[in-house]
Amino acid sequence: MKIQNLNPAPDIGASAWLVELEGHRLLLDAGTHPKRDGNASLPLYGAVPGTELDAIVISHCHHDHVGSLPVAVRRFPQAHVLMSELSYFLVERVLHNSVNVMVRQREELDLPEYPLYTHDEVDEIAPRFQAFRYGREVEWAAHHKLRRGVASPTLEFLDAGHTLGSAGVMVRGRKETLFYTGDVSFADQTLLRGARFDDVDAEVLILETTRGNRAPQPRYSRAAETERLATALLRVLKRRGSVLIPTFALGRTQEVLAMLALLTREGRLRPQPIYIGGLGRVFTEIYDLQAHRTFRQHPSLQLREALQLEVLDPRQAQAMKLSPGRIFVLTAGMLTEHTAAHDLATRLFADERHAIFFVGYADPDTPGGRLKASRTGKPFFFSRAAGEVTRHCEVLDFDFTAHANRDELLDFVGAVNPRAVILGHGDPDARAWFAQAIRRRHPRIRVFQPTPGEVVEV
Ligand SMILES: [Zn+2]
Ligand SMILES: [Zn+2]
Repeated sequence: MKIQNLNPAPDIGASAWLVELEGHRLLLDAGTHPKRDGNASLPLYGAVPGTELDAIVISHCHHDHVGSLPVAVRRFPQAHVLMSELSYFLVERVLHNSVNVMVRQREELDLPEYPLYTHDEVDEIAPRFQAFRYGREVEWAAHHKLRRGVASPTLEFLDAGHTLGSAGVMVRGRKETLFYTGDVSFADQTLLRGARFDDVDAEVLILETTRGNRAPQPRYSRAAETERLATALLRVLKRRGSVLIPTFALGRTQEVLAMLALLTREGRLRPQPIYIGGLGRVFTEIYDLQAHRTFRQHPSLQLREALQLEVLDPRQAQAMKLSPGRIFVLTAGMLTEHTAAHDLATRLFADERHAIFFVGYADPDTPGGRLKASRTGKPFFFSRAAGEVTRHCEVLDFDFTAHANRDELLDFVGAVNPRAVILGHGDPDARAWFAQAIRRRHPRIRVFQPTPGEVVEV
């Protein structure tokens, strides 16, 4: 089996792995790099020899896994496109949204190559998408190769518990087997239940390593963290301050809304409008509609019924009164410029009654990362649009990750006990921790860290 790493950078980057197995070729994920722009954000499709590819498989609908799917389909025109049934409900919305973002950024960032694909292109390729339930084994070899009596390799999606539709991918050839974790959460979140990777048996394992560079907090519990958020939120509202929770539209938004819905149900949070972004609303609707097909907690909790959700118009974010204590759950987890979340944050800075709560990772080089590192009353550079600012509002950081911690992943490696592990989706220090820990605990397992474009043969 040959595996080529197509991530253009040595960090978490854009997920895309080319797998060659018994004469068939498969692309696992087709992401874009969140910290790069334009063509530089694309996987190294040009490093793949030839254009023949049997199938493209999508693990889940975050941009770093699906953002360049139309570009991959253009490059490999015969490939089938396979994904989980729940991802199928999301994927077109995600791709159309990324066209909108690229069209806007074409001017803002002066990138003539944007958009990398168009709305028409998304519509044209959509009929080629195929959706499969978790736990169903499907053949993926190109039709013309299927001869009677010769078994095609198969694949199976296993629920990864990371976001709606997320999957690990089990690939089985006649002789060889591979498992790709995608992004995975073994622990239950407020809504989604943890991954169901129980019986994974594979010779080769491609492992996500996002949290390899931080040791799990021994006293961390999700329930206690949820309570800390609830207490902080109620405290801000009591002093008539407003709260901004910047999040990513798919996954984290719905988890935060679920926490608010449960607080409302318990009578601790009085019913009031919750302002969200347009894309967040679209995905929340899909979470509600697909609740019965999802492995989750509170299966009958419909977020749109439990909460008074209002889509915030970006101009409204500039004008509305903030003093009576409002709640905003807005897309742009890292407070990127030209978003309602960014503009609202700048309005909250001046008043010590207000608060901004981070519920996920923010890169240190983004406005969100700089705000997290800032101190009350001390000037700091926030963004090009806002320049240097001084904040008086409260800023708190909560850990509601949708990624497995490193000990859980290391246990998983032990349970699968593969011949080889390929480390991906992590910064160099995160991968280095895994490489060392696996070698120490499982000296017989070979560990690979292919560099951008490198092919490993296992
Ligand atoms: Zn993800
Ligand atoms: Zn990811």
